[in-house]
Amino acid sequence: MGRFVLLLLLPLFLFGSTVKPFKWNNGESFLTFLERKKLPLSLFYKLDKEDQKLTEDIPFHAKCQMLVSDKNIIEQILIPMNDELQLQIYLTPKKRYKMQVVPIISKTYREVLYTEIKTAPYDDILKATGSINLASRFVRMFKGRVNFKKDVKPGNPLVIVYEQKYRLGKYFSMPEVSGAMIEIAGKRYAVYKHTDGRYYDAKGAQFEKFIFKLPIRNARMTSGFTKRRYHPVLHRYRAHVGVDFGARPGTQILATGEGRVCFAGYSNGYGKTIKIRHSNGLTSLYAHQKGFKQGIHTGSKVKQGDIIGYVGSSGLSSGPHLHFGMYDGSTPINPLSVMKKKTEGFTGKEHRQFVAIRSKLDRIFNEQMRTKPLKRKIADFPDVYYVDKETFKAKVF
Ligand SMILES: [Zn+2]
Repeated sequence: MGRFVLLLLLPLFLFGSTVKPFKWNNGESFLTFLERKKLPLSLFYKLDKEDQKLTEDIPFHAKCQMLVSDKNIIEQILIPMNDELQLQIYLTPKKRYKMQVVPIISKTYREVLYTEIKTAPYDDILKATGSINLASRFVRMFKGRVNFKKDVKPGNPLVIVYEQKYRLGKYFSMPEVSGAMIEIAGKRYAVYKHTDGRYYDAKGAQFEKFIFKLPIRNARMTSGFTKRRYHPVLHRYRAHVGVDFGARPGTQILATGEGRVCFAGYSNGYGKTIKIRHSNGLTSLYAHQKGFKQGIHTGSKVKQGDIIGYVGSSGLSSGPHLHFGMYDGSTPINPLSVMKKKTEGFTGKEHRQFVAIRSKLDRIFNEQMRTKPLKRKIADFPDVYYVDKETFKAKVF
């Protein structure tokens, strides 16, 4: 059975209209985009503060879609803002453009990859799945534990158990790895994702070497991370792709981990903002600052705990606080999921939960190692869909 992804159900008529996929220009602001497409700028100004801020988080090269009439009039644009919500610009029957934030219809599948090394894990995973995200994820997971360059030999088997979202018939967003293993010289190195969203080895020790710390001392969280929340009063979908910490203006902001400042400047929504790229591939973001610490600029190297700036309320902020974000590539993740945990090792109920997760994954690993399913079923997705005007269902274009 083919996998079928539904587009949004839209009251659109497709007399000779064309679906044009395009990628979001890296670094382009939402206003510039509207200008370039000759769309009314009021679309942006009518958004409320929170949604305006979200437009600054449109991932680099986000896969967007435009529906254009045979008279070359834009009828609809879909722009994903994260893997749960998208901006929908559409032409009303009265020929006015409107915009709203709507959920992304996507499907998640559990996938299992078994492959044997021919050249290197990254290349072989990429070749087998076509997913750069999965390949880099795997390499990063084992960083510091396994020396891929030195120890991995052709023929070494690896298994990845993961969940992948599909939207409009394509891989979408980061794969969520639940477990992975590689066997080198007869020894198995395995990683298991626990209920806390973190990765552990078979003994329950934290697997990822790179551990972050909170960016504020005595932090008081005022707003948590959510990719999609329905606001019952405003009757609309919201997202908050970071964590807010309430603090007095001028409170020191600390680098969450070692890295290099890849942005120190101003953005409309986030105000005075610093972004730090860390060696494990994640990027942290510190927004609404009052000012940066002297000497901190794009290119600066920072260590964990270094002061980088001071809490303020620059940009679209309702009051002094630090908005703290974490990105895997350009996908926002919950920053708290990668913070250092106080306890080491599991006990009691948590230990039993971990053992259950580990056994389940070990069974999958063993099954894969026994059957060696080198040929993978490839999802039979066509490239592009459009919305059928009668049924409002997605159809192959
Ligand atoms: Zn925030």
